[in-house]
Amino acid sequence: MIAASERLESERRCGAPTGGAETGWAGRFVPEAALRGNTIREWSMTYVVTDNCVRCKYMDCVEVCPVDCFYEGENMLVIHPDECIDCGVCEPECPAEAIKPDTEPGLEKWLEVNAEYSEKWPNITMKRDAPSDAEKYDGQAGKFEQYFSSNPGQGD
Ligand code: SF4
Ligand code: SF4
Repeated sequence: MIAASERLESERRCGAPTGGAETGWAGRFVPEAALRGNTIREWSMTYVVTDNCVRCKYMDCVEVCPVDCFYEGENMLVIHPDECIDCGVCEPECPAEAIKPDTEPGLEKWLEVNAEYSEKWPNITMKRDAPSDAEKYDGQAGKFEQYFSSNPGQGD
């Protein structure tokens, strides 16, 4: 397994992957080496939780993840990049549309946030009630800078 930061650097150096195939696995590109038997984890991308989760934290995502790789902070969740199998199931479940594939441009910051706090916060697999004021914050810009808390959530 490689660290998320190492993977980012490796991907930057290599650019777009060559040689491989679109798989039926959520239609994602899997490099040839992975298809030959190397672990998918080293080669695949990940999904990340982004700004609009902050203070919304609806938690619909945690119940659909097949590998239980969500971690809970006081006011947002993150995905562990080394545990996510890139299945994409959680993305459409998020009412706040806060989950994105890290193949989208400009998400490097979020990969770092997800990688860092998934090592610090407790695992969560069961949905609880969203914050009572979640709707008020849904869609606001710049929530991370204004409201992010590095405190852990309660977890399962
Ligand atoms: S469903 Fe979306 S807003 Fe809710 S906790 Fe998951 S990522 Fe955050
Ligand atoms: S993409 Fe799949 S494995 Fe990754 S966090 Fe979402 S549901 Fe879990």
